[in-house]
Amino acid sequence: MLENHVLEIDEGLVTDIHQKPYSETIRLDDCCLVPSFVNAHAHLEFSDLARPFPFEGSFTGWIRELLEYRDRRRNSLADLVMGGLFELRHTGSAAVGEILTGNLNPADYRDHSDFPVSSVVFREIIGLLPESHEEQLHLAKQHLDRFRPHEDDDPFAEQATCTSGGLSPHAPYTVQMQLFEQLVSLAGNRKAPVAVHLAETEAELQLLSRQTGEFRDLLERRELWRKGLFAKNGSPLDYLQLLRNVSRALIIHGNYLNNNELNYIANHPNMTLIYCPRTHRSFGHYDHPWERLLQLGGQVAIGTDGRSSNPDLSMWNELRFLKEKSPRATDQQLLHMGTTAGARALQLPEFGSLKPGASASLNIIRRAESTQSLFAHENDLIGTMIRGQWIRSPV
Ligand SMILES: [Zn+2]
Repeated sequence: MLENHVLEIDEGLVTDIHQKPYSETIRLDDCCLVPSFVNAHAHLEFSDLARPFPFEGSFTGWIRELLEYRDRRRNSLADLVMGGLFELRHTGSAAVGEILTGNLNPADYRDHSDFPVSSVVFREIIGLLPESHEEQLHLAKQHLDRFRPHEDDDPFAEQATCTSGGLSPHAPYTVQMQLFEQLVSLAGNRKAPVAVHLAETEAELQLLSRQTGEFRDLLERRELWRKGLFAKNGSPLDYLQLLRNVSRALIIHGNYLNNNELNYIANHPNMTLIYCPRTHRSFGHYDHPWERLLQLGGQVAIGTDGRSSNPDLSMWNELRFLKEKSPRATDQQLLHMGTTAGARALQLPEFGSLKPGASASLNIIRRAESTQSLFAHENDLIGTMIRGQWIRSPV
């Protein structure tokens, strides 16, 4: 933490940080300047929901509610995305890892705004039965043609469009292993990041290891069950191993990863575990393994998930919730997970830090007198700047 410093900004970039006298300053007492938040996992298609779908003990029951809502909603997908981006911008996030379930274009993410949120758009792919694989693979290719992946050797290319593309084979219970492999190999060839929901529930582990339980029932009811769809004695590790060669892999939730699997993630720097604290709480899961992964030297970033399981898309609320739930978490850990780790996972090097050359995307947090932590509930987010433009000015 630097005290009493001047941060100079020009044309959307941080140009200098120093303690020299400077004439054009905005003085901010009792405030901390931090990089903009990076929301590493969201489903913007649910941004019109006033409250999450209630969880009544059955994960597949919750999925059923979500599918019914999708069938009856009136708003267009593009409008829902717009609503989500607006909320992100006004709650301090400059970038998002978004899961897209339809066919939108980069222009749909431009937000009709001079300071759009950077969106890494992961096309969600679902395909269990072999006859669906070809079509799903085609959709994935089309998406990557439309949304050019963001390449590490050209870190600022993304700024021109503020969008880049990735793939999201949804989860082991919706994507058959062969298709999963093909999607991962396509992403690898295109240097595109991959996001996958993994080890989210105990029921998922049961399906993979023994092909029984509530997911088996769900697949049978939807006429998607067939003998031989899953290998015997499968586990999340089988999927992690397939992800070892992609440029970035975002392991979403990972609530039930075992020590062996956490070790595997820690030993693969291309992998980041994405923890969604309030969603984790709303499904009543046991303790999340994020601290164990950090101890092993792995990367953890934070996401809000969608409004289908969380009351809002605010990373500020998410981080303050996590501080309250895990008082031992340090400001540095929380800040890293809410900014730098997400930017790294999404291949957006211009975000997640405040140093000369970085994007002038930042938040201003006013610390209440009584608080020790930056993420105490009494503190306020009083200003947000994205790419050098005030979204909300503190003065
Ligand atoms: Zn999700």
